[in-house]
Amino acid sequence: MGPLVERFPSHCPRGHRLGARRMLVGWDNRCDPPQRIWICMRCSIVMHHRDYTWPLTDHPSDRA
Ligand SMILES: [Zn+2]
Repeated sequence: MGPLVERFPSHCPRGHRLGARRMLVGWDNRCDPPQRIWICMRCSIVMHHRDYTWPLTDHPSDRA
């Protein structure tokens, strides 16, 4: 096992690149079980952890 890195989708469903300052990280307690959510700061779309398969990016650095 590598170091514990919180993973998140590399892009939102609308193609906006995500990163530490390009998304909001939240927690949806209305789900059972509660799950991680991410919100794109460009279009405010909410992404649920369950909707993404792993592995996804664990490199928040920009390579644009
Ligand atoms: Zn977006």
